[in-house]
Amino acid sequence: MVNKELNVFNQIAKALFTDEKENPISEIIPPNELAARLSIELNEEAIPDGVFEKALKEIILKTPKTSSKLFFNQLFGGRQPKAVLGELLSVLLNNSMYTYKVAGPQVGVEKEIIKKSCELIEYGDNYGGTFAAGGSMSNFMAMLMARDRADKSAIAKGVTKPLIAYTSTDSHYSVPKNAAFAGIGRDNVRYIPTDENGQMIPNALKQAVEKDLAAGKQPFFINATAGTTVLGAFDPIPAIADIAETYQLWLHVDGAYCGSVIFSEKYRHLIKEVNRADSFNYNAHKMLGVPLSCSVLLVKNKANLYKSFAKEAAYLYQTDHAFDEFNLGKTSMQCGRRNDALKLWTLWKSIGRKGLGEIVNQQFYLADVARDYLRANREKYNLYSFEDSISICFNYKGVDAKELCTRLYEQNALLVGFGSFKGDTFVRFVTINANNSKKEILHFFKVLEKEAEKLLSEKVIAYAN
Ligand SMILES: *Cc1c(COP(=O)(O)O)cnc(C)c1O
Repeated sequence: MVNKELNVFNQIAKALFTDEKENPISEIIPPNELAARLSIELNEEAIPDGVFEKALKEIILKTPKTSSKLFFNQLFGGRQPKAVLGELLSVLLNNSMYTYKVAGPQVGVEKEIIKKSCELIEYGDNYGGTFAAGGSMSNFMAMLMARDRADKSAIAKGVTKPLIAYTSTDSHYSVPKNAAFAGIGRDNVRYIPTDENGQMIPNALKQAVEKDLAAGKQPFFINATAGTTVLGAFDPIPAIADIAETYQLWLHVDGAYCGSVIFSEKYRHLIKEVNRADSFNYNAHKMLGVPLSCSVLLVKNKANLYKSFAKEAAYLYQTDHAFDEFNLGKTSMQCGRRNDALKLWTLWKSIGRKGLGEIVNQQFYLADVARDYLRANREKYNLYSFEDSISICFNYKGVDAKELCTRLYEQNALLVGFGSFKGDTFVRFVTINANNSKKEILHFFKVLEKEAEKLLSEKVIAYAN
């Protein structure tokens, strides 16, 4: 039935791979020209297959190529073939993960990932977990479990206590959004300052908690980050866990960006004592190169997952009552839920935990290559980032980061973004594509320098005039 479409798929995929090599950057189409340049418009009537396929292929080839060797703009990139295979098959299976009745062995696949991940972080026997729609949603689920533990009436009556959450100034913007969704309010999030390496300052956290307690508020949740979105910094978990334990606050470690260090013997130490956190998440679609989305949420005590997310539904949960933990809908925020587990399983099954660790190690190696290059060329560059981060933040001296990144985009040269930290704005070069080698990293700088020098000389001319 889908055979014809699979052939079309193969043709377009082949064209995409060729185009990715020849034109690693898709030509930009300004938003206001989309309608004129591509056949996106939907119509009343059917169209011939040939016309349809041509329109589709064109749209695919004009889409930004996030798997190419010139894409460094986000916290994902590259393509792990075995993960792509799993993703494609999960589309064909089209299960929904809520019950064993409709997902069968796929439930086992998801549970195995949760189990092995929890073993890696030494979560003990009461562990649990689920897949969420992304890191932001994993963080949301963690906050909800924390809320429901701190305010027992929240589920039935809504929030009744003056709950306060804590996160660092460099943490992800989903934290305040989630506070609003959870009925806690964005104003009830305290932003704890970070040190010069972008790590949360535990003492400042402690002071903030005590101040709120003195004011009659109820602290309930700390969000620590393993890999901050701009700098890639790791908050000091042991010191933060001490505070969480002292004041009985839920500790969540947001490892959406770099939590996958759990797979690497060499870099696991960056999240030392993460087993003291009540919950932890990692996005396999970031460091592990699994297709979007693949976000794993782990909890130390699965009872919290059930308390916050289980709800009977006679029309849904009709079988396997004796094995209720195989009805994954009971621990999920969603009802129907796509199978995000199989693509991580195909990768993990084929290359092993050690292979996943090598993917992570490769990214840190590439980051070292980039930092070495910047240090060797310090007459041209300012370097802002430190060791053990795969976000290389730097400036080309005399050139505005924002201007440079925009120019690189507009010239179809490469895709990279900028970020800010303590008043400095810089280029944020992310070495997260483990398909890359030293060659691509050095090529990145070559392309960037060409544009930077052009910008500099234009400035000189502008001054002269
Ligand atoms: C990317 C990121 C998130 C959000 O993950 P999504 O899957 O994009 O929702 C959360 N926290 C951190 C630290 C991130 O880097």
